[in-house]
Amino acid sequence: MTGRLPAGAVILAVALTGPGPSAQTSSVTALVGGTLIDGFGGAPIRNSVIVIEGERIKAVGQVGTLPVPPGAEVISTEGMSVLPGLWDMHVHLMINGHADYAHWDRTYPAQFETVIMPASARQLLMAGVTSARDLGAPLEASINVRDRINAGRIPGPTLYVSGPFIQKAPYPGTELFRWGVNGAADGRAKVKKLAGAGVDVIKLIDQDQMSMEEVGAVVDEAHLHGLMVVGHSHRPEEVRRGLAFGVDNFEHTGLSSAPEYPADIVTMLAERTANMSRGPLYWTPTIEGLFNYEYLRDNPEQLDDPAWEVGLPPEIIKDIRQSIANPDRLPYFQLTPIRRPTLARKFRQLSDAGVVMLVGTDSGIPMKFHSSSTWRELDAWVNILGVPPMQAIRGATYWPSVAMKVDRDVGTVTPGKYADIIAVKGDVLRYIALLQRVDVIVKRGVRHR
Ligand SMILES: [Zn+2]
Repeated sequence: MTGRLPAGAVILAVALTGPGPSAQTSSVTALVGGTLIDGFGGAPIRNSVIVIEGERIKAVGQVGTLPVPPGAEVISTEGMSVLPGLWDMHVHLMINGHADYAHWDRTYPAQFETVIMPASARQLLMAGVTSARDLGAPLEASINVRDRINAGRIPGPTLYVSGPFIQKAPYPGTELFRWGVNGAADGRAKVKKLAGAGVDVIKLIDQDQMSMEEVGAVVDEAHLHGLMVVGHSHRPEEVRRGLAFGVDNFEHTGLSSAPEYPADIVTMLAERTANMSRGPLYWTPTIEGLFNYEYLRDNPEQLDDPAWEVGLPPEIIKDIRQSIANPDRLPYFQLTPIRRPTLARKFRQLSDAGVVMLVGTDSGIPMKFHSSSTWRELDAWVNILGVPPMQAIRGATYWPSVAMKVDRDVGTVTPGKYADIIAVKGDVLRYIALLQRVDVIVKRGVRHR
């Protein structure tokens, strides 16, 4: 039993005491005393009691009215905010902040599945991220890492994976994780292959380079298999085609340094969000790194935080360090100061058009580490963009679970759902950046911190 649990995990769940189902008992744990933000958006619950039995939440109430069952292990959350485990809806487990993609893609693929993706996953979990959506990696590695985590063999968030990007043509040297589409039939065949392998979503990119027939075929085939389509949207025509063919979730705050989304896109967005029968339109702005690049360039101490080294071998750490030794010189970010002043306007346009914003970070891109990406995105929403903290937290808890159609099981702290719960000292509704140091992490009833 312990052999199947992640190293360092404390067992709260499922003690098998003998043969047969009648002999099976589950250990009971109670988180007691903290202020609970349950994920539904209502007023926080003071002096909360959360009873966990096995991997699920048994009861939620308050001190004085919900008794702690006799024999339960009690974890005090006094002085803390208690909330659903965070989601990050846009991560890249196969990269770890290295600045040179071409070098990374040619040097490390043999270690993606065994070393790099597990290290990234572990770092995310230790940052309080109990669910994550990985958008673009080799197929087999994506499926295997996801399944090893779900089976409890390695620590990490519950993963939802796309496997390879679907696009017009892979860039040279990226064929392992980017699949090209040549004609509508080929688009359907590629999606069918991904669906058959068991991916959770389809990631579409460069759809502005595809023919209309190809985009339509990819989205339609994905939907036939019950898979949502997540569309890259840095360019106007990526958004237009995505909207025309029913992409479910757009990524990034795009259009480079252009001042705003053009009127026709805003109109299309409002038409789409008005169409209630199709459900919400989701958007993952992945905006923090753009806002904070100049700050990071001039105040790079965070790049020395050993949290991003966890699970990585010394030679890879050294390689990453060297690649980001001069943050001011990275080609990736040279245009960012010109883009930055346009971001708030674009974020506002999207919000005003009625999309549901999701917290996602592009974690893994240059200088953006899995150990700290997620809280930084939340902090940018609240402290730069003025999003109410409760709304930002729901963009990282409730809404992702709805978008991924798993809200029966996760996303809020509710009896019957999996016990994916974090707690942090202090009031996160007043100081959202407290989430950079999570004190208690419970995933599926297992305490990891
Ligand atoms: Zn990405």
